[in-house]
Amino acid sequence: MLQISVLASSSRGNATVISGGGTHLLVDTGISALRIRKGLKECGLTVAQISGVFYTHEHQDHVCGLGVLARKDALNIYCSRYLARDLRGAAPHALYTYLEPGSPVQVGAIKVTPFCVSHDAADPFGYVFECGGVRLGYVTDTGRIVRGMPELLSGVQALYLESNYDPEMLQNSGRPYELINRISGNWGHLSNQQACDFVRSMVHPGLQHIILAHISPECNTPEIARRAMQQTLDDISHPACLHCAAMAERLPWIEIS
Ligand SMILES: [Zn+2]
Ligand SMILES: [Zn+2]
Repeated sequence: MLQISVLASSSRGNATVISGGGTHLLVDTGISALRIRKGLKECGLTVAQISGVFYTHEHQDHVCGLGVLARKDALNIYCSRYLARDLRGAAPHALYTYLEPGSPVQVGAIKVTPFCVSHDAADPFGYVFECGGVRLGYVTDTGRIVRGMPELLSGVQALYLESNYDPEMLQNSGRPYELINRISGNWGHLSNQQACDFVRSMVHPGLQHIILAHISPECNTPEIARRAMQQTLDDISHPACLHCAAMAERLPWIEIS
């Protein structure tokens, strides 16, 4: 069995806890160390119980809490070799394990397989977490669905999936043209519609949970993102549980079996 609790997710900060077989992992530390500690406490955990911190990429909304977090606790960090160069400044005493896309690592009871996504960062990764035959796909900060991704994720029981923006809200957001192009481009973020199309491409009878994540506070709302995905699930008659991760409050444990 795997469990996931999203401490926070949006363009303003991201951090997630994943547990399985007595092993606890953190994915990204893009909120304050104080909030991470508080969120872990609500999960019944402490930083000392985290066996590994996995990073998706170097943007501040995914890493900013690391420096303060690493001052008090010894951390085992898993990321690309390039990203480790960046993170060492904030966490010089952490232990680093370099990841290669497609090469799984085993951390306690959880097997983690990184894969490439398409984002304007150095080595951005998505992940598949696996424990006791249960799999969770983790896809965020990608401007498009990279070839091979639907096949890689086609057997997962749960999917954490970016549903970043509503195209109309993005166009009317008053943001600079370049920023709008960056967000909606191939190296930016997934729109609600792209997230829906992706689910259509990889859905299978065993997919139980979909967690919509990285929802933009300015160019989307949880209601719009949820409505779009629910419509897709209704269209394909697939009864998955739909969850929306938020910036302000923790998404309580979801159990995946
Ligand atoms: Zn982000
Ligand atoms: Zn990013």
